[in-house]
Amino acid sequence: MDIFAIFSLLEQSPTLFLITTFIVSLLVGSFLNVVIYRLPVMMEREWQAQIDEVIANNTGNAHQNVNNDTFNLVKPDSTCPKCQHKIRAWENIPIISWILLGRKCSQCKAPISARYPMIELLTAILSTLVAYELGYTTTGLGFILATWLLVAMTFIDFDKMLLPDSLTLSLLWVGLGLSLFPDTLAPNSAILGAILGYLSLFSVYYVFKLITGKEGMGFGDFKLLAALGAWVGWQQLPVIILFSSLVGAVVGIAIMMLNKKDSNLAIPFGPYLAAAGWLTMLYGQHAIDWYLGTFIQR
Ligand SMILES: [Zn+2]
Repeated sequence: MDIFAIFSLLEQSPTLFLITTFIVSLLVGSFLNVVIYRLPVMMEREWQAQIDEVIANNTGNAHQNVNNDTFNLVKPDSTCPKCQHKIRAWENIPIISWILLGRKCSQCKAPISARYPMIELLTAILSTLVAYELGYTTTGLGFILATWLLVAMTFIDFDKMLLPDSLTLSLLWVGLGLSLFPDTLAPNSAILGAILGYLSLFSVYYVFKLITGKEGMGFGDFKLLAALGAWVGWQQLPVIILFSSLVGAVVGIAIMMLNKKDSNLAIPFGPYLAAAGWLTMLYGQHAIDWYLGTFIQR
């Protein structure tokens, strides 16, 4: 069976498309765990190398912290963080291995965090929801890819207060590119969405900084909203802002109720934007229709 036969099968059978999306997204979720952990480390190493180079140029001394070990998304192989036992293929099956291994490293019995299978399951569930809502269409396939990028960004920002350009800008370019295909968002909606998305958050940031002297957001947040604007169009940007405040309010109240001491805790804005953007991709038009139907009598 050639690859085109597979595509036409997916097009003809919605159930097969859902099952395929679920399984592929589980495997992608497993890779996203690697991205979430390694991408920030790769960025830190790059920054360190640049700092070393500047110091070396200024002082004439040789590099101090040279680290020549290969470290990227593929190499070195994944190991147990405790005993460095190399993770074999059968120990790396999404969710199933985690359960079969009894949530422990097969070698040193150190517990394996539930976060790994949870991210795999989350990726699979969100992607399958997209597949269910949008079907086997250009927009549907594009939104599944966007879902994967948003999951990676959410957890990296949550861990490191950082939204890597390699992810936000990829999302932006793919979103703009997708608008060139038939039966997708119109290109002018996507382009204006990107521009207004960036500018709207930048102006909030700028005014906030003028008034309080503090920086409430980072440039990664502007790039993320620009990217989301390219996917949903400028018309739905207000829906993203509305959804992100709703998600933010719910999470904020939950955190305050759970631990009162840390209510001043710095919370990254990226995860809210990503969640709101994803909700808008799927349900933004419903929200607009509901609003118009409820509040504007025609
Ligand atoms: Zn181990």
